[in-house]
Amino acid sequence: MSGTVVVVGSANVDLVVDVPRHPAGGETILGGDLRRTPGGKGANQAVAAARAGGADTTFVGALGRDESAELLLTSLGAARVRTDTVDRIDAPTGTALITVSPDGENAIVVAPGANSHVRVGAAQARRIAAADVVLAQLEIPLDTVIAAARERRDGALFVLNAAPSRELPEALWEQVDVLVVNEHEAADLAGPGSGAATPEDLAAALLARVPAVVVTLGAAGSLVARRGGEPVRVPAAVVAAVDTTGAGDTYCGVLAAALAQSGPAGLARAARLAGAAGALAVTRPGAQDAVPHAADVVALAE
Ligand code: ATP
Repeated sequence: MSGTVVVVGSANVDLVVDVPRHPAGGETILGGDLRRTPGGKGANQAVAAARAGGADTTFVGALGRDESAELLLTSLGAARVRTDTVDRIDAPTGTALITVSPDGENAIVVAPGANSHVRVGAAQARRIAAADVVLAQLEIPLDTVIAAARERRDGALFVLNAAPSRELPEALWEQVDVLVVNEHEAADLAGPGSGAATPEDLAAALLARVPAVVVTLGAAGSLVARRGGEPVRVPAAVVAAVDTTGAGDTYCGVLAAALAQSGPAGLARAARLAGAAGALAVTRPGAQDAVPHAADVVALAE
């Protein structure tokens, strides 16, 4: 029996070019062949919840009426994500312009386009009200994130991946059941005044605001902390990393899918499954294209 997840967030087409180095201001350089791949934190996490997490997953987002929208709908559909709650609007589909240097460092500019118009209308609210977990990130308007969280039923969890980093209003803090952040985002949210240095310190500082925190630590795995309990480190599998794009999104999608089945008591197991999925994702290029299948995730986690 699978749980039900609604992911509310962005969808972008990633335009990716390998470059010998990132260009300076005013400079033009020649890069490699252009790759055009489906991405955006919201769509990536929806694909992960469905394909790697096995959840009945709905995506709430907004796309234009262009070719990029078709690419994204094809990718979401291939992962069996429900897309009848995606608005089609007269704005260009979100686009990320990404250059990748030989050391693997990305430089990214996002043109949000349709993502600035993601909203929770009646159809989206109905689907959210039927979900076990609502998962959102910060690439869409904060008012929409807050509205989505408020539509969840009693007992359903609101999981916020606070990425990219931005300040959160009180109305959003008070909705969060599980906060997922990497170390940079954790430090930004805890604030310089917190004096927190280690992931354990950062999690402890954030537990003053939310009941549960997950800090992702790249190749070092993740840290799970709940109010009133001891923090738990979840080590990562050792893998040959090819492309780390989308590891965080894969992690969040699988965490939400596992929580949809287990509820908050299953947070540590959910983090193990999510970590296994993140590790598999870094062994393949791309974002949605790198999301593994559920059987492989379970096999690595156990
Ligand atoms: P990104 O924004 O690059 O997608 P992120 O900073 O949001 O990533 P990470 O902490 O890098 O998130 O990765 C998420 C999770 O994926 C980690 O907690 C870990 O479990 C897994 N992971 C990431 N990189 C590796 C790696 N090199 N080896 C094994 N597991 C990894």
